Amino acid sequence: MMIKNIAVIGAGTMGNGIAHVFAQYHFNVTLIDTNEAALGKAVQTISQNSDRQVSKGMITQATKERILSTLHTTTVMEAGVANAGLVIEAATENKAVKLKIFTQLDELAPPAAILASNTSSISITAIAAATKRPEKVIGMHFMNPVPVMKLVEVINGYATAQEVTNEVVAISTQLQKIPCIVNDYPGFIANRILMPMINEAVYSLYERVAGVEEIDTVMKLGMAHPMGPLQLADFIGLDVCLSILKVLQEGFGNPKYAPCPLLVNMVAAGKLGVKSGEGFYRYTPGSKDLIPAL
Ligand code: NAD
Repeated sequence: MMIKNIAVIGAGTMGNGIAHVFAQYHFNVTLIDTNEAALGKAVQTISQNSDRQVSKGMITQATKERILSTLHTTTVMEAGVANAGLVIEAATENKAVKLKIFTQLDELAPPAAILASNTSSISITAIAAATKRPEKVIGMHFMNPVPVMKLVEVINGYATAQEVTNEVVAISTQLQKIPCIVNDYPGFIANRILMPMINEAVYSLYERVAGVEEIDTVMKLGMAHPMGPLQLADFIGLDVCLSILKVLQEGFGNPKYAPCPLLVNMVAAGKLGVKSGEGFYRYTPGSKDLIPAL
């Protein structure tokens, strides 16, 4: 099956990046969000990120113009998914929201369409069970920022058909990404390994083993990580980290995944990292300085 028409649900951080990359590699993309303002902001972000690609010689000005002219946006899911061969859901990380979207998609998307979720941690098998086509439901977990990061974690749900996995692997390769197939257990691979490391970094700060900069410096210089775990947590969003840890804790029933009380407190205080202007570091618009906040 040659899939050309893609619908992306959710125009936030991930949805705009996913739409950008599919449009760049010649798919017809419709970006759908319930929030009109989010769609406008997404198009602006895609334009700015395309400018950056042009200035680095990665794409031509003509490609940038093609990306923006072939991308459609809508707030009406029915119209947006009517001709889709593949739908990628990148809406808010909330199980109830995703189950509702997949129930709607099952009714509105063509029967042959593959329904993928970009969820960081919610069970693909549970999402698939909200549809009458669980064999066509799969995880397609892109990394942030999508135009830059090479990995797509492809997650097989309990019922995902082999042809669907093959198709998603082929499409990921067309996007010049490297797909990696994993099975559907809490946190998949990326977050099952990353989040306990971030949580342990927060515990190290909470117990005053070391300060913010020291913890990040040890991991950057000692382990060759490009970003320390506390800076990375700020980049991902502390609310997102907290919700993934809760999925791991509940999914495995193991207290080793219990989120550090400091992380819980920071989220309750609205200190969510880069997006709120403060997390483990303070962020000033237009400045790349990293000022520890704790
Ligand atoms: P975000 O909050 O930036 O964007 C979510 C968007 O979904 C919002 O624009 C919101 O209006 C929209 N939305 C909510 N309900 C909707 C609905 N019913 N129909 C259409 N649109 C709806 O979130 P994000 O960071 O882009 O995350 C999206 C998904 O990607 C989540 O599942 C998240 O776990 C996953 N993810 C995030 C990252 C990351 O670093 N942020 C990385 C990998 C995966």
